[in-house]
This record gives sequence, structure tokens and C-alpha cells, in this order.
Amino acid sequence: MRLTSLLHPYIIYFLDLLFPHLCLGCGAEGEFFCAECARTLTYVPPSCVVCRTLTVEGKRKKWGRTCTPCRKKSAISRFFSPLRYEDARVRKILHMLKYLRMREGAFTAAQFLSFSFSRFKISFPEEALLLPIPLAKSRERTRGFNQSACIAEEFMRISRSALTLRPDILLRVRATRSQVGLSQDARKANMKGAFQITKEDLVRGKIAILLDDVKTTGATLEEAAKTLRAAGAREVWAITVAH
Ligand SMILES: [Zn+2]
Ligand SMILES: [Zn+2]
Repeated sequence: MRLTSLLHPYIIYFLDLLFPHLCLGCGAEGEFFCAECARTLTYVPPSCVVCRTLTVEGKRKKWGRTCTPCRKKSAISRFFSPLRYEDARVRKILHMLKYLRMREGAFTAAQFLSFSFSRFKISFPEEALLLPIPLAKSRERTRGFNQSACIAEEFMRISRSALTLRPDILLRVRATRSQVGLSQDARKANMKGAFQITKEDLVRGKIAILLDDVKTTGATLEEAAKTLRAAGAREVWAITVAH
């Protein structure tokens, strides 16, 4: 058994004793992230994944649509990422989730998504697949879990979404070195061939929606989208909690 999975309940137990549900935003006692703080966060409307032009749903307009001039540069058709990573409160939640394995972090992130979807009138076609961005097996073993899969699970639990969650379709087949400090081109090269599709027949003709915690340059999302398109996905959309 892994050490991290052995420690996990105890870490949570002691954290609860030491920090009895203090809001990560303001420190108020009671909740992991209070409603007041959730209200004061900046929520960014859907935008083109390449040039960031805002694309709100309207008459004959589709939310988050990649605009025509940008289509050559991206395999992603629609994009949405409601929160700013530069907000320290958002960073805290995502760090908490990633490094302390706190289920509350995934729950809060899923709540942000769910809230933002209704705020910007974002809906999904029923037959679409929700695919969390996978970690390399070795990374998942060390960390003990995949934060994107946790967010996806929590989202499905609280939202009653008709999406089909399939964490088993998109696999990370190659461990990539850290993207930190790499240029845009080097990041792209670093990600090349990192993903593989296990069940191409399930992907063919479908809309696949990628889910990740944070988008930085987008090299990971683009590579995953390219892999899915090559496997026959009709469209690939991407959603991240923050950017
Ligand atoms: Zn608060
Ligand atoms: Zn654009």
C-alpha cells in the first residue's frame, strides 16, 4: 500500500482539528470557501481559446467558440475557464486539492464550475463525453490520485449533468517533463505523443469535453484535443477551473 494513501485520512483528520473549516478566502469559520468570497471572485465569460475574445451565448452565437481566424491554430472548438489563477484564493483551493488531496478542494472547484455554467448559460449536449486530463501513471502513483478526475467526479455528483464521465478513454502514455520554464514551442514538443485513446469506437463522431484544473499555455489541452480529433471525435471542447 502507498504511504500517501495510508496517511491521507490522518492528514485530513489533523487538518480538521487544526483548522476547523476556515474559509480559504477570508478565514471566517464555517465553510471551506464561504458564499461571500465566492460572490466576490471574478468570473470570466467563455472566450476563444486562442485570442481570448469573449464569446457569450446569444442569437446564433455559441459560447466559447474558437473564432474563425483562430481555428487553424487550435484543435479545440469551444473553451471555458471561469476563474483567474492569479487570484490567491483560487490558487489556494487548487493547491489544496493537488498537494493535500482534499476532497473539499475538488468539491469547491466543481461548485465554481457548476455555478459558472448557469451564470453564463452554458449547456452541454447529452451525448457528450467528459474526459478528465489524465496524469502519467508514475505521477498518479506518487500523488495517489488525479485532481482533474476528482473535480470531474464531484461535478457529476452535484450537477446532475447528462454528460458521460469516461476517465478510461484518454490515457497518458508518456511521462512528460515539467512544463515550467519551457517556451511555447518547447511545451508543444514536450507534449507530443503524450496521450492515447483506448476505445476509439466510443469517441468516433462524438463531442469530447476535456476537463483540467488549470490552463497555462494550453499545450496539454491542445495535444489531448489533437489526439481525440485524430481518433475521430467530431469536436473537442475544453474546460478548466482557472487560467
Ligand atoms: Zn470567505
Ligand atoms: Zn480567436
